[in-house]
Amino acid sequence: MPTETRPLTELANHADFLQRHNGPHHHDVTEMLKALDMPSLKTLIDRTIPKGIRLEGDLALDGPRGESEALDYLRGLARQNKVFKSYIGQGYYPTHLPAVIQRNVLENPGWYTAYTPYQPEIAQGRLEGLLNFQQMVMDLTGMAIANASLLDEATAAAEAMALCRRSNKKHKSQRFFVADNVLPQTLDVLRTRAAYLGFELVVAPAAQLAHEDVFGALLQYPGIDGEVGDIESVVADARSRQIMTCVAADLMSLVLLKEPGAMGVDIVLGNSQRFGVPMGYGGPHAAFFATSEALKRSLPGRVIGVSKDSRGRPALRMAMQTREQHIRREKATSNICTAQALLANIAGFYAVYHGAEGLQTIAGRIHRLTTLLATGLKRHGIALKHDSWFDTLTLTGIDSHRIQGRALTREINLRYSADGEVGVSLNETTTAADLAVLFDVLIGEEHGLSVSELDREAVEQSASGIPADYRRDSEFLQHPNFQRFRSETEMLRYLKRLENRDLSLTHAMIPLGSCTMKLNATSEMIPITWPEFADIHPFAPSEQTSGYRQMITELSDFLIEITGYDNISMQPNSGAQGEYAGLVAIRRYQAAVGEGHRDICLIPSSAHGTNPASAAMAQMKVVVVECDRDGNIDMADLEAKAAKHRDNLSAIMLTYPSTHGVFEENIRQACQLVHDNGGQVYIDGANMNAQVGLCRPGDYGGDVSHLNLHKTFCIPHGGGGPGMGPIGVKAHLAPHLPNHVVTPQEGIEKDSGAVSAAAFGSASILPISWAYIKMMGARGLREATELAILNANYIARRLQAHYPVLYQAANGTVAHECILDMRPLKAASGISEEDIAKRLMDYGFHAPTMSFPVTGTLMVEPTESESRYELDRFCDAMIAIREEIARVESGEWPKDSNPLVLAPHTMADVTEETWERPYSRERAAFPTEAVRDAKYWPAVNRVDNVFGDRNLICSCPPIDAYRDVS
Ligand SMILES: *Cc1c(COP(=O)(O)O)cnc(C)c1O
Repeated sequence: MPTETRPLTELANHADFLQRHNGPHHHDVTEMLKALDMPSLKTLIDRTIPKGIRLEGDLALDGPRGESEALDYLRGLARQNKVFKSYIGQGYYPTHLPAVIQRNVLENPGWYTAYTPYQPEIAQGRLEGLLNFQQMVMDLTGMAIANASLLDEATAAAEAMALCRRSNKKHKSQRFFVADNVLPQTLDVLRTRAAYLGFELVVAPAAQLAHEDVFGALLQYPGIDGEVGDIESVVADARSRQIMTCVAADLMSLVLLKEPGAMGVDIVLGNSQRFGVPMGYGGPHAAFFATSEALKRSLPGRVIGVSKDSRGRPALRMAMQTREQHIRREKATSNICTAQALLANIAGFYAVYHGAEGLQTIAGRIHRLTTLLATGLKRHGIALKHDSWFDTLTLTGIDSHRIQGRALTREINLRYSADGEVGVSLNETTTAADLAVLFDVLIGEEHGLSVSELDREAVEQSASGIPADYRRDSEFLQHPNFQRFRSETEMLRYLKRLENRDLSLTHAMIPLGSCTMKLNATSEMIPITWPEFADIHPFAPSEQTSGYRQMITELSDFLIEITGYDNISMQPNSGAQGEYAGLVAIRRYQAAVGEGHRDICLIPSSAHGTNPASAAMAQMKVVVVECDRDGNIDMADLEAKAAKHRDNLSAIMLTYPSTHGVFEENIRQACQLVHDNGGQVYIDGANMNAQVGLCRPGDYGGDVSHLNLHKTFCIPHGGGGPGMGPIGVKAHLAPHLPNHVVTPQEGIEKDSGAVSAAAFGSASILPISWAYIKMMGARGLREATELAILNANYIARRLQAHYPVLYQAANGTVAHECILDMRPLKAASGISEEDIAKRLMDYGFHAPTMSFPVTGTLMVEPTESESRYELDRFCDAMIAIREEIARVESGEWPKDSNPLVLAPHTMADVTEETWERPYSRERAAFPTEAVRDAKYWPAVNRVDNVFGDRNLICSCPPIDAYRDVS
């Protein structure tokens, strides 16, 4: 119809966001339904989702908003935040994110849409970035090994405490020492974790450690009020008494301070935020975690290691994956899954761009300004709590109210303590002019100080706040990666070169079962770098954060409506963290009603590995419930186990639809059964993408669920994080949600300890999910779910003649993902699911999820965002691969020389002088016409996993290593 004859409403509709978010268009949907022999989308959904749990009508959400309209509204909320200059410190600092990194990494879908690097051949770029991060942490801390990030400093401290108890075989105590100058949010999280690990915390001045009998200790360096204390002697004494020591350190200060690794410390941890990552009202940022050589095989989280590929060239990969929860389940050492890969990459690149000299200049300036501040204050008779400092001073004996009044007028935030002290922490963005204003605020305007005069004197006297014994005299960042990219041109090309080694959603669909790699729309991403969201300190006064809080309240309300729960906590910053927070809420509730003895957690055998790992962390005993042949929970087994443990049953953890990709008919009965036996129901919400707008966990029996906002609600995966794992709860659990010691929340028990460092977790990425829901509206969200289910069923239908599809429902449908069984093929041809995964790279695709939840299978989740064109391209590739397998089965290609076992193929393969393989170079690299149009080249050949684990190297290899073999 020509536009003149269409009404305005219809013209407006054409630009609806939901038509951009969803892949299949009207015509495709008709065709796809035809392929499925389904009369309508409604019929497909009716046959897929059990009638008994269907939501009546649409969600009560606002209608869809256009992209610019939603952004306008969000801009209005952002303006309600007030960006004051922050000298609060306490773990969060203003920083300059170099523009070349902001534009080419943080705001670049080539970086932020990548998946966790489980397939190393197509992830060498971000693996190198993460290796840089590890090297930087190792260098600055002086430790032997570092991991590739944890969620935040507070949880890193909790992991350190747990690691000490696991590793300290010489000390039987259950007591852990915490110096009284650690960050209060760290202590808050330690308290929560310690309670469920059965540890007693001893909080006292560091010197008191000498008189305590404990298995481990945490010190802060420098302490919260700025002191560069004598931790070396404390550490030495502790070592002599078999006490393990952990130091929470500030990376920027380590540029100038003696590194903890030189003092015999066992574990060093902290936040890398001030290396270029905006404060973002609490996150996301990458925490770091480094240990001594002795602990290197016990590190929590992901560790990047150097191995070699099948040509013997160096190749990077995630090391020691056998320690992950998927394999170790309730015996896993930690439940960390999604971490902070994107932010670790940014912090690493910040170090690459500045190098040692640049960092010395930055840290030197911060320290000089702090020294000038100290000198000026002392000259005016203001007492400082300590006579050592790096960037933080604590003022005592002052009128903190008057100072606060002056500070607020000048739009400045300082740290005010309950006992009338005032803290000032300077940062990279602080200038001499800022210092003059700080004198006005702290002393009064007639201070008469001249910053340049103070500076002249300081230079003459080589003044410093760092005690002589604590000055750093060792080198760091000497690897060429930290020396070669100092000009913007070189840096730009380095970032691009790394990006080009990685396959992301900018190339092709990433059909990862359970991980929901859907569109991360540009509009959704835009607000995260607005200063009104990016530059807010998590502990800024609430009057300055009303825009943030309004946005969070609105998002919470959306999620409450979507899930059917009564309350939401935004604190957990990953799904696994949400699981832990949810289980802790259950345990707190049960303790409050006199049933604290309940500690059995039922978990189906098909569950994601984080479930048993989280249950173990909450000190629950895991009892496994079996699944039947169709992938459903074995109801008889559930009934028997719930009855057997009825006196001690605490909870069940169910995933819905199950990780087998099935909407179990009897979910309601399963929940009821657990309730009848005195237990609570945890529904793992990772598969919400199959439910939004169609059914709600709060309606069919859930008491608590986490949502992975980085799956269902469009926060990008970032190559392994950030994420957000808010939990929804029924009203009875609400008072037991995590509270926060610095920013307490109403309606939550005061002593309900925190699970994250910041009250709203990684708040600055919440606008992404807010915008998604706003722009889709109730109808759009429902349609997205329906199309996700349609896409999965379409793939299952197209592939089922070639690969057996496991676990279809009785009527032949699957939910939003399908599992392809490769075991019969492997038996017949020797070709494994891994060979298929690697061969898909030659076809330009990322592999589906491998061997989860069933070994020897591939789990495909297309999401609603993939178009029919892309689904067909993927199915064509899978079918072509099946034909290749047939040629191995028939003996045409030898079992050890065919395009599958030798996949992926690199440029080095196909440009070799001699080619002696039974298939052509063309088949190797250009198996389809589509590949010819846009070829993605894996950067390395198949990576040797075993070699990498046997020879664990987690630092940047010398450049020569790349030359030697070629
Ligand atoms: C992804 C996932 C988790 C863990 O979530 P993270 O955000 O990675 O911690 C838990 N359960 C299931 C089923 C998942 O798919």
